[in-house]
Formats: sequence, structure tokens, C-alpha cells
Amino acid sequence: MNDLSPASTSLLDFLIDRINIGIFAVNRNMECTLWNCFMESHSGVAAASVLGKNLFQCFDELPHNILYHKINSVFILKNFAFTSWEQRPYLFKFRHHRPVTGPVEHMYQDCTFIPLKDEAGEVQQVCVTLVDVTDTAVYQKMMKEAMASLAEASNRDGLTGIYNRRFIEEILNKECQRVQRYGGTLSLAFIDLDHFKKINDTHGHLAGDNVLRASSTLLSESLRQSDFLGRYGGEEFVAILPATHIEGAHILAERLCRHMAGITVQYNDIDIPVTASIGIAEWQPTMVRYENLIKAADHALYQAKAEGRNCVRRGT
Ligand code: GH3
Ligand code: MG
Ligand code: MG
Repeated sequence: MNDLSPASTSLLDFLIDRINIGIFAVNRNMECTLWNCFMESHSGVAAASVLGKNLFQCFDELPHNILYHKINSVFILKNFAFTSWEQRPYLFKFRHHRPVTGPVEHMYQDCTFIPLKDEAGEVQQVCVTLVDVTDTAVYQKMMKEAMASLAEASNRDGLTGIYNRRFIEEILNKECQRVQRYGGTLSLAFIDLDHFKKINDTHGHLAGDNVLRASSTLLSESLRQSDFLGRYGGEEFVAILPATHIEGAHILAERLCRHMAGITVQYNDIDIPVTASIGIAEWQPTMVRYENLIKAADHALYQAKAEGRNCVRRGT
């Protein structure tokens, strides 16, 4: 900086103090040699209290090891170094200017470590710039959250909130591949409401929708946490039952049938009775593809319908 004229030196001082970026510098003993207004106003510590003092003694909340090694590496390697908010949200625990209701507590910072060399090319000081990137961090967090909730919504059925057909098939495919490769048991239950068309025709489509919502709630409450429930079609549900053999699936399906027959769905002061027929099947290595497990359960469901409804049948 000694090649600058007095006029440009004072301009530089002016800029360093007015710029909306933290700027400070330390010598090899980690003593502060520069502390601009941004650093003063955000830390609440005046330049006069810091200059000539050891940075780490002035700010004991600093991540000592990381910051010390970062600065030291610039003295040794004579190169620029950086820290990004994505690896380390902040070096200095400054409050940010966003409203207190915001999703972050402290100012996110991107920092650059600049070697200040003498005429012999030796690094005499390291200058650190600290940029407030809280807005970027907040928007990125909000975007990630929005993307995650969109991804979650894309797996759900709009009416019932349980998994949709695309996602339940994706899970089934993975579960089938897992048992095919590593062994174990897996069963599938295909659940179809009985005479559902008649419910729609008698009470209207909105009543039918209510029945679908109530049925999916009842089914999901009757399953284990490790099971997966999805809406396969109009009034058809699929339950994937990992680590369950056909006998276990049969007991569960009988229970589901009883639960369904045991409730009535209220709509406009009318109690609508509901029953379901269920086809179950267990994964066999010869099935190879998940579609064949669906076929087997669907075939069993067809039998349950043919043999009077409100019952469970096994497929092979
Ligand atoms: P079965 O006992 O043989 O299963 O007879 P079903 O009447 O239940 O079966 P069917 O396949 O003949 O009729 C299914 C009905 O489901 C017809 C369709 O209008 C209705 N449906 C499909 N999706 C929805 C929906 O989202 N809401 C409502 N309310 N009804 C639906
Ligand atoms: Mg039906
Ligand atoms: Mg059906």
C-alpha cells in the first residue's frame, strides 16, 4: 500500500471504513493491525480496543483452531484462502439484520484471507474480509425446504394424503429387489372397497370422497410403522408389509376387514356402512419382478370379490 499517494491513501481509508464488508488484518503474532467500521459496529468493540491486541484474546468465542490455521496457512503459503458459509456459517458471532422471526440467528459470512506482502514478497500481515451472506443463506434454506415439501407432496395422493400409486410402486420395487437379493419375507395386501360405486350413486361423490378419506385413516392406523400404505386407484389401496409372511399378512388382513366393517362414515347426518375385500400374496423368488406380486394379490382380490366380498383371500 506504500505506493499510494496521500490523497489515494485517505480515499482508501475512507472506503475501508464505509464499505459494507468487514475488513480486519493481523500480523504474525495475531495482533490486530486493522479493524474497520463494519467490524466495530457488528462486534460492538471499537478499533481502539482491538488494535495491537491479540485477536483471539479479544474474541474468545472465535473458532480458534480453524481460524488460526487458516490465517497461518496464508502466512506460510502466501496464497489467498477462503471460508464459505456453507462449510462454516460464521467466524464472528454477529447478529444479523433480519427480523427476529427469521429462520436464522446469526449473520452468515463468507470470508477471504488475503496475504499482504512486503517488497521482498514476505507476508507481513493477513487481511480478512467478511461478507454478510445471510440473505443468500436464508433464501437457499427456504428453497431447500420448499423443494423438500414439493418432493414430499409429489409422493402423496391429493385426496387422502397417503402415498400415491407411483410412489407406492417405487417402494414396492425396492422392497422386492431387497428380498430377492438379501432374502427375507415380504407380503402385499390389495384392498378394494365393496360396492363403492353404489355409495357414490346413493350419497353423492363428496360422500364417496369422505369414505375414501376415512378408510385410508383407518387402514393406516391399523398398520405397523414399518408398513407402507398407498392409494392405488379410485377405491383401491395397497399395503406393503415388509418382513411379513403370508400367515401374518392373513391375520392382519382379517383385522383390517373387521375394522372396516366395524365403522360407518358420517356424511350429512347419514351413517354410511363400508366393507372391503382384500387379496394378499407373499413374495416368491420366482416372481422376479414386483408386478408379479401385484398380480398375485390382485388375483386373490378378484376371488374375494367373487366369493361374496368383505373377506380375505390368498394368492400365489
Ligand atoms: P366392487 O365391490 O366390485 O369393488 O364394486 P365397486 O362399485 O366398488 O367397484 P367399481 O370399480 O365398479 O367402482 C369404483 C367406483 O369408484 C367408480 C368410481 O366412480 C369411484 N371413484 C373412483 N375414484 C373416486 C374418487 O376419487 N372419489 C369418489 N367419490 N369416487 C371415486
Ligand atoms: Mg370396489
Ligand atoms: Mg376397484
